[in-house]
Amino acid sequence: MTLRSTWLLLALLMLAPMPALAEAAPTPPRSVDSPMPDEGGPAAFDRLFRELDLGGLGEATPDQAREEVARLHGLLPTGDARRELEYRYLACRLPADDPMAGVEAASQGLEDARRLDEKPAQARFLYCRARSREALGRPDQSLTDWEAGLALAREAGEWRLVADGLIGRGHMRSLLGEHARALNDFITAQELYTSTGNARLARDNVINLGTAYRRMGEYDKALAHLQQGHDQAAGRGDGNAQALALLQQGYLFEELDQPAKAQDAYERLIELLGDQGSPSEIGFGRVALGSALIRQQQYRPALDALAKAEADFASIQDTSSLDRLHLHRGQALAGLGRHREALVEFNAAARHMAAANNERYLALLLPERSRTLEALGETEQALDDYKHFIEIQERLLASMSEQRSVAMRHQYDATRRELDTRRLTTETALRRQELDALMKARRWQWIALSLGVVLVLVLATLVWRQKRRARRLGVMAMTDELTRVANRRNIELFGEEAVAAALDERRPLTVLALDIDFFKKFNDTFGHHAGDRVLTRVAAAAQGALRQIDRLGRIGGEEFLAVLPGTGAEAGAQVAERVRSCVEDLDLDDIADGIRVTISIGVAELHPADADFKALVARADRALYRAKANGRNRVEPDLPASGT
Ligand code: GH3
Ligand code: MG
Ligand code: MG
Repeated sequence: MTLRSTWLLLALLMLAPMPALAEAAPTPPRSVDSPMPDEGGPAAFDRLFRELDLGGLGEATPDQAREEVARLHGLLPTGDARRELEYRYLACRLPADDPMAGVEAASQGLEDARRLDEKPAQARFLYCRARSREALGRPDQSLTDWEAGLALAREAGEWRLVADGLIGRGHMRSLLGEHARALNDFITAQELYTSTGNARLARDNVINLGTAYRRMGEYDKALAHLQQGHDQAAGRGDGNAQALALLQQGYLFEELDQPAKAQDAYERLIELLGDQGSPSEIGFGRVALGSALIRQQQYRPALDALAKAEADFASIQDTSSLDRLHLHRGQALAGLGRHREALVEFNAAARHMAAANNERYLALLLPERSRTLEALGETEQALDDYKHFIEIQERLLASMSEQRSVAMRHQYDATRRELDTRRLTTETALRRQELDALMKARRWQWIALSLGVVLVLVLATLVWRQKRRARRLGVMAMTDELTRVANRRNIELFGEEAVAAALDERRPLTVLALDIDFFKKFNDTFGHHAGDRVLTRVAAAAQGALRQIDRLGRIGGEEFLAVLPGTGAEAGAQVAERVRSCVEDLDLDDIADGIRVTISIGVAELHPADADFKALVARADRALYRAKANGRNRVEPDLPASGT
C-alpha cells in the first residue's frame, strides 16, 4: 500500500458517513388526484359521488338533488357492485315523499352491502334508514340504526363516516331530550371533521352545535353559533342551512320570551324556502310561526299557519311534527275560547307524543290541556294532567341537572384530553431532539473511531515498511549482488571476528584464497555476460562444497575468500581440493558449448603470530600465487616464510 492510496482510503472513510448526516432530499409528492382527461368512467363517478356526499347534496334544492343523483346514475359503470351501492346510498338520501319506501330501500341496500361485506356501505344504509325512521316518528328505532351504523363506521376506521353518525345520533338524542349527550356528539363530530380535514362538514355542523347549546340553555353560545352558521350559509347561498339556522334562532327567541323576533325569523325562513324548499322544512317553519303567533295572542293567523303546515306534511306523509301541530292548534283554539275543539287537538297531540315517548313535549302539553279541562269543568282530569305534569317536570329537571353534569364532565374530559395531547406532543418532540443529539454524537464517535483505526493501520504499515527496507538494505549492504554470497565488507568482518574468536579459544582457523584461472581470456572469448554467469555458478559450487559454519565471500572481480572456523591447514587443504574439483566438474554447456572452468586455491592457517585477518589473507594470497605459478587448477598451502 502506497502512502497515496492510504490517504485516499482515509479521505473515503471520512466521507462515508456524510450522506447519513445530510438530510435526505424529499422526493416530490406524487400527484394523487391528477385530473383525468377522460370525463366518463369510474373516476368521474367517484368525483361526483365525493362532491355530493361531502355536502353538495345537502346544499341542493330537492329538485337539484334529484337531478344530480340521476347524473350520478348515468356515470355508474356497469357491473360495479361497490359503486352501485354508493349510488343507491345517495338515492336513499334524497328527500323522500314516502318514508316507508325509504325504510325499505335502505333495508335492501343494507342487506346487499352485508352480502358484499362492505362495512362503510352498511353504515351508510343504516344512517339512511335512521333518517326515514325519524320521519316516520320512530325516534327509538332511528336511534338504534344510528348506533349500529356508528359501530360499523368505527370498525371500518372511517372517521368521517363516524362523525356523520355522531351528528345523526346527536339529533336523535336531542329530540329525545338528551341534550348534553347530543352536544357531546356534535362536539366530537366537530373534532373528527376538523382532524380529518373536512372543513366544509365542520362548517355545516356549527348550526347543530348552536342548536345543542340552545337546548342546554346556554343561550349566548347558542346565539353566537347560530348567527355564525346562518351567515356562512347565506354567504355560500346554501338555503337549506340558512333555513335551519333561522328556525333555531326562532326557537331561541321564543325561549328568551321574544316572540316578535322569533316570528320574524320564521317568516324569513318561509320566504327563503318559498316553493324551492322541501315541504317538511316549510312545514316546520309554519308550525313554529304558529307557536310564535300564539305567544303574541294572534290566534287566527296562528291557525292559518298551522293549517298550511298540515297540508305541507300531508303532501309527503310526514307525521313527525303532528304532535306540535296539534299542540299549537289546541293552544290557539283555547286562546279563542274554543275549549272543546282545543281538547280534541290536545288529545291528538298527546297520542303522538306518547307514541314517540316524548316527555319534553308532554310537559308543554299537559298544563295547556289541564287549563282547557278546567275551563270545561273537568276538574278531576285537569288535576290529573297537572299532577302528571309535575311528575314529568321533576324528571325533566333532574334529567336537566344530570345533563349539565354530563356536559361539564365532557368539557372537563375534553380539556384534560387536550392537555394530555399537548403534553404528549411536547414530550415526543423532546424525545426526538434527545434521540437526534444521541445519533449525532454516535456518528461523530464512529467517525473518530474509524479515523483512529485508519491512523493505527497507516502507522503500522509505515513501521513495517521501514523495517523491511532496513532489513533489505542491511542484506544488500552485506551481499554481493551478482553471486549472492557475502561481499568484501561482510567476509572481512566475519574473518576478523573469526580470527579474534579462534585466538581467544585457541582453535584453528583456515582461510582459502580462490581465483578463477584465465578468466580474462574466457571473458574475451565468450563475452562478459557469459563470464557473469560462470562467476555465479562457480560461487554456488564453492558454497556447496563448504560447511554451514564456513563463509564464502567475493572480494574482487573473479577472486573469492573462504573462512573456515575450527579448521586446520590440513583439513583446510582437503576442503580446498573438494572445492577445486567441484568447480572443475561443473557442466557449463548451457552457457557455452564444451567450456570448462578451473580455479586455483591458496590455503593458509592462522598462526598466533598473525596480527590480524589481513595478515592471514596475505599468506593465503601468497599460496594462491604459487598455485598459479605452479600451473593453475591446483591447491597450494602456505609455506613457512623462507629464511625465518
Ligand atoms: P589468471 O588469474 O589465471 O592469471 O588469469 P586471469 O585472466 O584470470 O587474470 P587477471 O587477473 O589478469 O584477469 C581477471 C579478469 O577477470 C579481468 C576481467 O576481465 C575479469 N573480470 C573481473 N571482474 C569481472 C566480472 O565481474 N565479470 C566478468 N565477466 N569478468 C570479470
Ligand atoms: Mg585475478
Ligand atoms: Mg584469474
